Amino acid sequence: MNPFAHLEESLSASRIGTYLRCPLRYFFNYIEKLPWEKISGAMLLGSAVDATAKEAVALVKQGWQKPEDLQLDELFDQFFKIEIESPRAPIGWGKRHDQDSMRDLGRSLTQALRPILFTEERLERIVDRDVAFTIPLLDEEGKPLIDTPLIGIFDFLLEIDGKKIPLELKTASNRTQYLPDNLSRDCQALIYAMAAQTLQRDGEAHVSYMSCVKLKKPEVIESDFKVDAGQLAWARGLVTNVKRAIDAELYHPAPSVMSCGGCPYTAACAKSGSVARSVPKRIFSRPQQARPAPR
Ligand code: SF4
Repeated sequence: MNPFAHLEESLSASRIGTYLRCPLRYFFNYIEKLPWEKISGAMLLGSAVDATAKEAVALVKQGWQKPEDLQLDELFDQFFKIEIESPRAPIGWGKRHDQDSMRDLGRSLTQALRPILFTEERLERIVDRDVAFTIPLLDEEGKPLIDTPLIGIFDFLLEIDGKKIPLELKTASNRTQYLPDNLSRDCQALIYAMAAQTLQRDGEAHVSYMSCVKLKKPEVIESDFKVDAGQLAWARGLVTNVKRAIDAELYHPAPSVMSCGGCPYTAACAKSGSVARSVPKRIFSRPQQARPAPR
């Protein structure tokens, strides 16, 4: 069920992230709604790890299993099978993996979570999962900056010393991907921090991250992302500018090794000469200046 179906308009953190990665990719995905040309095996792996962790937490929280009895390999295999049997596009396994090696990696990643996520203490702190949020984007004085609410879904909600702290579970290709230094320039992470702030009486913008790192011997890295007022102000400006650029229909390509490598629209992009030729001179529109009233 879509928890945001009642909203006429909304802007998700992942939508903004897609626009920032490449506006043309945003256009293909959200405006043209083109089917994906391919989906990476790594993305399916991430979805299966996520589903496994949430199901395992639910099994323990609902009293069906003890943490030490969780059959994580079997659970992962079930979710991985679902992912590969009904992908939204043909699967690209990449040069380093095939289906079997990706399944083995996924099993190792979920096993690496066992001593970190599936402990009595941690499980006691988890009070909810898949928690949807809807927040307005407000300036420091509480005035709306855009007329569209921001939406997202926290993976888990922890309760620690009376405070509610979201916990995001990620798969990562390196140890530093979800450390605070990197997250502080990640618009999606900052939007999640804004939403986390609304949960606290003291206004602290705090999100916990747990990343399963895809190493030969997988590791789980935990980090606490606490955001200060300056970073939040920067994020508000960024989201406002992205919204203006979307409203102005600025959909230029932004090719880069990072963006194009995982792009599901490389063929559509190659054929999009006419769209690519309409690259705007400025990426972001400036705020409209009020004109002086005619005398
Ligand atoms: S291939 Fe690169 S430039 Fe083209 S739409 Fe995808 S991310 Fe953008």
